[in-house]
Amino acid sequence: MERTGSLPFGTDEILSDRVLGQSLDCSCGRDHRILTRKVVIEPGVADRVPEILPALIPGERILLLADRRTWKAAGDRLSEALGTSYSVECCMLRDDPTGHIHASMELVDELMAACTGVFDMVAAVGSGTINDLGKEIAHRRGIPCFVLATAASMNGYTSAIVALSENGLKTTQSTTPPVVVFADPSVLMKAPRELTLAGLGDLVSKPYCGCDWKIASLVRGEYHCPLPDRLLSVPFEEALEAFPRLADDDPEAVILLFRLLLISGLSMAVVGTSSPASGGEHLLSHYWDMTRLRDGRPLNLHGAQVGVASLVIDDLYRRIVELDFGRVRFAPNPSPDDALRDVMEIFGALAPAVWPQWQAKLEARTAEDLERLVGNEAAIKEEIEHTLAIGRKVRRALTASGAPIRAAQLGISSDELEAAIRHGRKIRTRYTVLDVAAELEALEAFAVHVGSGGASG
Ligand SMILES: [Zn+2]
Ligand SMILES: [Zn+2]
Repeated sequence: MERTGSLPFGTDEILSDRVLGQSLDCSCGRDHRILTRKVVIEPGVADRVPEILPALIPGERILLLADRRTWKAAGDRLSEALGTSYSVECCMLRDDPTGHIHASMELVDELMAACTGVFDMVAAVGSGTINDLGKEIAHRRGIPCFVLATAASMNGYTSAIVALSENGLKTTQSTTPPVVVFADPSVLMKAPRELTLAGLGDLVSKPYCGCDWKIASLVRGEYHCPLPDRLLSVPFEEALEAFPRLADDDPEAVILLFRLLLISGLSMAVVGTSSPASGGEHLLSHYWDMTRLRDGRPLNLHGAQVGVASLVIDDLYRRIVELDFGRVRFAPNPSPDDALRDVMEIFGALAPAVWPQWQAKLEARTAEDLERLVGNEAAIKEEIEHTLAIGRKVRRALTASGAPIRAAQLGISSDELEAAIRHGRKIRTRYTVLDVAAELEALEAFAVHVGSGGASG
């Protein structure tokens, strides 16, 4: 068993068998098991899959998931390479006219019903959506899965959760992570730059999620573990210097981003929750996805929204650090009837899915929240100051790489931005900086300020 105190800091070592497939003994009191056993990033990797796979996953019957784009990018070659040593059934996912596949529980049910054969493993060839669908199908069937990644576009490859919507509500659920992640640098390089920049957007939420998680542990006594930070902080801050080179499609910068996204996924897998990589900024992004799906409007890439939302949260932190926490009095919750009416008015058809989340959040809220905020004011502000120092480098990296930094660049209107700030915290029970701001009576003014074109609007 590896002691986390002696953890290596280099990305190569973290993505090696010093960490992968290991149990890590941790100061948080838990043993963290890492179920992903191998990461292979090399040219022509698809051809080597049949040689590498047998030592990691037994069996020959593969259910291969791809869509027309990822089939062309890598699935075709993988299927050919698996050739005679494996029996492969391809499940081609249909995208909508905009090229989008919506990752939902309903689609997993459909695929489960359609792929009735007997399989030993699932192979997911693609990025976010296909990876999540592959993990979930394998998990439900109780068989392992592996991934052939096609873009450095998000951090879910190695995570033990899936982000799927259910009845229109964005949910994250536990699942089994892939045993192996394969990637061919030339395939990652050929992915549209927009996808790679979305990966950067997803990654740079890291300091904000970490800060939200820390605050939740101080205010709510939530479980907190130092391991995610130990894995990712140093490589992340070093890499911020390299990310401007993504603007020139620099291969080293793309591979570095991909490796860090894998580590970000691991940082969630080790603690079994998305907390290390999903805070208030993810709630803003989920809010946009949910309301746009409800209204039949086009969605943006997850990571592109998360990058923009991270800078919104950066501005919110900047405000909070200037507040005197002791100046406000505890405001009691609205009556359940009023709160329900409010949710129905704001969320319309989504209200039945949102209400249980908001109701549970209101019920968990007590006057102690404010007391603990005040009691921990200095520690919280110190944590935020540290986050804002990294945030300055994050803003520079996003700007220099050409990633979107304002909501308007993604076609998100100022009304949508304002609404997400005001209501995003209602869609999930997780305690984030949005709840902190509401408790300190600063959220409403911030929403109005951003909505009227201030800060990141
Ligand atoms: Zn731990
Ligand atoms: Zn994300």
